Amino acid sequence: MYAVAEERELQKLTDELLKLIEGKTEEDWKKLSRKEAEELAEKLRRVIRYHDYKYYVQANPVISDYQYDKLFHALEALEKAHPEIITPDSPTQRISPAFTGEFEKVKHYAEMTSLENTYSAEDLREWDRKVRELLGTNQVEYIVEPKFDGASVELVYEKDLLVRGATRGDGIYGEDITMNVKTIKSIPLRAPFSKHGIDLISIRGEVIMPKSVFQKLNEEREKQGLPPFANPRNAAAGTLRLKNPAEVAKRGLDCYVYQIFYSEPKKLCDDIKTQKEALKLLSDCGFKTPHIQKVCRNIEEVIETVLKAQEERESWDFEADGMVIKVNDICAWEKLGETLHHPRWAVAYKFPAKQAVTKLIDVVWQVGRTGALTPVAILEPVEVGGVIVSRATLFNPDFIRMKDIRIGDYVIVERAGETIPYIVGPIVERRTGNEKQIEVPTHCPVCGAPIVKELDEAVPRCPNINCPAQLKEHMIYWGKVLDIKGLGEATVNQLMRKGVVKSIADLYYLDKKELIKLPGWGVKKAENLLTQIEKSKSAPFWKKLTALGIRHVGEKTAQLLAKKFRNIQELMNAGFEELASIPGIGLITATSIKNFFKAEQNLEMIKKLEEAGFKFERTEEEEREQELPKPLAGQNIVFTGELDHFTRKEVQHIVELLGGNPTNSVTRKTSFVVVGKNPGSKYTRAQKLGIKMLNEQEFIEMLKEFVKENPEVRKILEEKGLL
Ligand code: AMP
Ligand code: ZN
Repeated sequence: MYAVAEERELQKLTDELLKLIEGKTEEDWKKLSRKEAEELAEKLRRVIRYHDYKYYVQANPVISDYQYDKLFHALEALEKAHPEIITPDSPTQRISPAFTGEFEKVKHYAEMTSLENTYSAEDLREWDRKVRELLGTNQVEYIVEPKFDGASVELVYEKDLLVRGATRGDGIYGEDITMNVKTIKSIPLRAPFSKHGIDLISIRGEVIMPKSVFQKLNEEREKQGLPPFANPRNAAAGTLRLKNPAEVAKRGLDCYVYQIFYSEPKKLCDDIKTQKEALKLLSDCGFKTPHIQKVCRNIEEVIETVLKAQEERESWDFEADGMVIKVNDICAWEKLGETLHHPRWAVAYKFPAKQAVTKLIDVVWQVGRTGALTPVAILEPVEVGGVIVSRATLFNPDFIRMKDIRIGDYVIVERAGETIPYIVGPIVERRTGNEKQIEVPTHCPVCGAPIVKELDEAVPRCPNINCPAQLKEHMIYWGKVLDIKGLGEATVNQLMRKGVVKSIADLYYLDKKELIKLPGWGVKKAENLLTQIEKSKSAPFWKKLTALGIRHVGEKTAQLLAKKFRNIQELMNAGFEELASIPGIGLITATSIKNFFKAEQNLEMIKKLEEAGFKFERTEEEEREQELPKPLAGQNIVFTGELDHFTRKEVQHIVELLGGNPTNSVTRKTSFVVVGKNPGSKYTRAQKLGIKMLNEQEFIEMLKEFVKENPEVRKILEEKGLL
């Protein structure tokens, strides 16, 4: 896309512009004449387009996000000062306002057909025989590309400007989603087709959501209580149909283009002779094209290429459901023509599905640490994408009800990426009438206690805290939180099965002689475990609170509690109101804490632990920390960019020692932002919100003020030679 000399020029221009815009505001820009403003804006647009290309198409940025943001904001301010100079292809114009109503229908320049599928080397050889026969030649060159699994789009450029983006629709008519397509940064708003003798072009590509982005999006959605997307394809297609381009822009979509549909005055076949050439042209115009586009001299080379891709595809950051094989010679396309549904000059090779059909034999209910019951499908073993699967999750009873899944059903199992296999749904057509409803158990399958279902929850629970299943999970968790080495799943299983421990407190009454009698245990192993257990007695109070496994009380909440209460007695005596009014603790957590201390068994466990010398109270160190002045108390502090003297972890620790609250995102509640080198978007956001900012040196100066009273912080600064 950019020649070496041009890149050099653009980099120089970038530096000049960065200098020029330093410290300038909209007011300064207002003083420029229209002509001056126009010229400067064009320069800024050129460099921003270049940096978009480096970042989004080549994944090889040459300036920091911070510098990029500066350029971008300068252009925004300049255009704000001179609205008449805004052009539709300005990088500032990617996001249009939200809208209501329907997407408009548009006719594609050529039909967006689907492809015939093949599933084996033999299928491919058969297809190759037909192609050679129809073309009357023995020598056919092919080109192999990934088959992107996303949402198909048509992009139209007129006089270098992106004028339309459309969904596939029924193949002939699609929906006009130009506004959303414009937000995707790897799609240029202006592309130099005219340099290649093209005035009008319609191209086809695939909008995808990278796997990494997909995973994060789903995690986010689950946190917000929204249903997750089933796969990246649905996520991409769903996002493209949102009516709020600003939201689309946030979703991290990407686009690969792989076909010229139509162009003028330059024509396919007459002027653009091969698919390889077409891809090169698209790449030269600034688009992302397939990372595999291998020209093969015969079908055997094709087969080798697709099989190799099949091996590698897990490592790609996008989903591909196969490979596409096209005849490289575009003139041959017309000769081969199309069947009713498919072109004859291309074919898809589908990767073995990561879905499979099998029979659901039974459902078992797994009991977790907090008593939650999860339905697990027991399946007739089946291969799914190269792995034998015999169990899959059914999530919760609502899911079973919604999908109407029954025992005896043939079901579709799917494995996406690294996730555990899950059931997509039943194949209703294959029912015989002998299928059985899946019943939610009325009693815990492990301990027999009657199941409860709280109103606000999708899952049924075993309420018995002495339930062996819960106890086992809790004990494993106890070992993990308190860092008791040797108390892993295998040991816990063994100790519980042999009846050596019946509760967590029993761990603190273990007898060495008894341990040694267990199969596989010697003096050494027994002593090690006992030492580790003994050591856990001196763990900090907040860790001990965490280890109790009170629902909704994780590490963070436990820390808040340990700051507020000196020991468990104080915590137990605290009223509901008092708990709920601690910043960071809500009504749900407060309720959960109160309920925990209502249960007789829990009180017994705590008593027995304390009698064994496991005290639920602040350690001396925690007390000392507590007494130190907290000059940053109540302050929310954000760090962005690299610091010269500290890692992120270190500064966060320092802030905590001083009573402050290190947070990750800039909001109106942020007290100040510490800005290091190459800061990210948090910097711009802080600027926008007008939040106070310190550089690293200023931050260190501030710390120096505090060290007189805080020996811990003094120690850290001394070690770093900053005092
Ligand atoms: P199908 O709809 O499953 O028959 O497959 C055809 C679809 O594959 C097209 O609609 C395209 O959206 C998609 N596709 C993905 N990658 C490519 C590619 N490299 N070349 C052609 N089509 C592709
Ligand atoms: Zn139970």
